[in-house]
Amino acid sequence: MTSVRKLAAAMTHYQECDVLVVGGGPAGSTIAALLAQKSRRVVLLEKERFPRFHIGESLLPLNLPLFDRLGVADDVRRISVYKPGAELVSDEHEAVATFRFADNPLLSVGYSYQVKRSDFDKLLLDNSRRLGVTVMEGTRVTDVILDAADRTTVTAIGSDNTPTQWSTRFLVDASGRDTLLAGRLGLKRIDKQNNTAAIFGHFRNVPRQVGDKAGMITVHLFEHGWVWVIPLPDNVTSVGVVGTQALFKARKGKLDAIFADAVGKCPSLARDMTNAEPLSPLVACADYSYDSRSYVGERYILVGDAAAFIDPLFSSGVMMAMSSASFGAGVVDALLEGREPREHLVRDYERKIQTSLASLSWLIYRINSPILRDVLMSTFDLFNTRHELITILAGDFYERRSFLSPLRRLQFAYGFLLFASKLGFRLRHGGIKWRPQ
Ligand SMILES: Cc1cc2nc3c(=O)[nH]c(=O)nc-3n(C[C@H](O)[C@H](O)[C@H](O)COP(=O)(O)OP(=O)(O)OC[C@H]3O[C@@H](n4cnc5c(N)ncnc54)[C@H](O)[C@@H]3O)c2cc1C
Repeated sequence: MTSVRKLAAAMTHYQECDVLVVGGGPAGSTIAALLAQKSRRVVLLEKERFPRFHIGESLLPLNLPLFDRLGVADDVRRISVYKPGAELVSDEHEAVATFRFADNPLLSVGYSYQVKRSDFDKLLLDNSRRLGVTVMEGTRVTDVILDAADRTTVTAIGSDNTPTQWSTRFLVDASGRDTLLAGRLGLKRIDKQNNTAAIFGHFRNVPRQVGDKAGMITVHLFEHGWVWVIPLPDNVTSVGVVGTQALFKARKGKLDAIFADAVGKCPSLARDMTNAEPLSPLVACADYSYDSRSYVGERYILVGDAAAFIDPLFSSGVMMAMSSASFGAGVVDALLEGREPREHLVRDYERKIQTSLASLSWLIYRINSPILRDVLMSTFDLFNTRHELITILAGDFYERRSFLSPLRRLQFAYGFLLFASKLGFRLRHGGIKWRPQ
């Protein structure tokens, strides 16, 4: 700490709390609520005023037990579209693969929800208030001093430019992709293998699935990426293109043109979008994956996207944000209490995050590879993997994979087909066929 900062700190009046949470997205409001339930004095500072737009609208079944724990299960159901599973469409393969959560008896919950994040995030934030958290919206954290003797000091600025100072026993960074601490402490590692970008928007007049597919997320695959179609409440449909650099370089230009180009590459989607009416201008963001070299420090913890972010292909973000927040609440409470050995708590927390990233990244890195696409879209289920993969797609990321887990079997199948492809064979609808080079 510089001497000027030390002097300023000595002269300032700090408001005190046990835990200060930066950010009121799903990770921040979950950890704040769970710690308030344990009678901690929790303050949450959020730079925006809710409701505010956010991307990340398709949830996973294993989110639901967390809604029960927070006491919001009925409220979430009220603002959602019921999601029975996911559908993968490849016009190149002229095939549709359907993943229905209820088909897997190992899953305790057989469905999930699609939500407008503005409503969902507000609901969770208001619930944390109800549970006793002091929530200040329109308040941006601008400075953090971690090296004071036994407390951390935080400076924030309100929307009327009034500064506030806080002294906290523990700091939670739930600042999302702003990565407040990982950025400042030089801990952030960008994953160069996953370097994609996304363009998305909300539309009306997009036809909806009916019958037992009503409410599913549809993912359309095309050469340099994929497009999500998510049915939201009030007949709004969220459509987003996620593409590799090749897509964006090949079509330098306006967002609308890149978006239309990608939609045009998926004829079945292009048909559905013929009469689509955009509700606002398209939004773009780089959605490259990253993580942090470490997730817990002396008196701080990183949760949700502030700790790690992985490509949205499997709609895993909110589930990972809320579950890391739930694990994190246990860590913070035990550390404040001095209950368990610190090293054990930290190692366990870090292992959980790393296992979840590892479970998903293998699939994400290969989603644009023709071989993985052939496996996912084939009419037969090579090595009986598809059915059980649903447990990963439902949010079960935290178990270490056994030798013959579905993911491992899929990896074997992939290796086998990669070898076959070098000999000129390629998986086609009915089996492995010779493909002239
Ligand atoms: C293109 C794309 C598509 C996605 N699709 C899905 C999907 O379908 N399903 C899914 O589950 N996930 C999806 N995600 C991921 C999802 O958006 C995130 O994983 C999720 O929002 C993480 O929650 P969080 O609470 O960690 O962060 P956030 O939701 O980003 O919340 C962080 C909060 O911190 C606040 N904040 C930041 N800095 C400060 C500061 N200095 N002071 C005070 N407040 C601050 C922000 O205003 C924000 O409200 C997608 C992501 C992208 C990029």
